[in-house]
Amino acid sequence: MDVVDARTRSRMMAGIQSKNTKPEMAVRKVAHALGYRYRLHRRDLPGTPDLAFSRFRAVIQVHGCFWHRHEGCRFCTTPASNVEFWQKKFRRNVERDGKAEVALAAKGWRMMVVWECQARDAAFIETGLRRFLGEPRQEIIANDTPVSPPKTA
Ligand SMILES: [Zn+2]
Repeated sequence: MDVVDARTRSRMMAGIQSKNTKPEMAVRKVAHALGYRYRLHRRDLPGTPDLAFSRFRAVIQVHGCFWHRHEGCRFCTTPASNVEFWQKKFRRNVERDGKAEVALAAKGWRMMVVWECQARDAAFIETGLRRFLGEPRQEIIANDTPVSPPKTA
């Protein structure tokens, strides 16, 4: 069964990992509203995490359920054709994600994954952020690198 549109499929076939996706923007929006400050796609950190909260030594990866294999999720489908091709790609992605998490941990950074299907729920993201990072504190924010508010997609 085909669950992705042609444009998404061609992007996936090309193996392009998308940045600034809708779920990613949703997470940024909530994080920003709560007062957490973050940097995007830091290349100096393993896995180039989507959001990096330097003061907390913590990162968030926003993962597409299909691409990164959200187990048990209804979006975690496998295309009916080229099964081997897809499975190989999926395996590589999951391996890469695992290695990035291990490498981050070795540097003393924590990682949280927000799945695409969870990112639809702002309240869920908020709870997750508070649990993961602790409450945003004004004095910390004041000293952190200022960032622009997220652009809406
Ligand atoms: Zn999912």
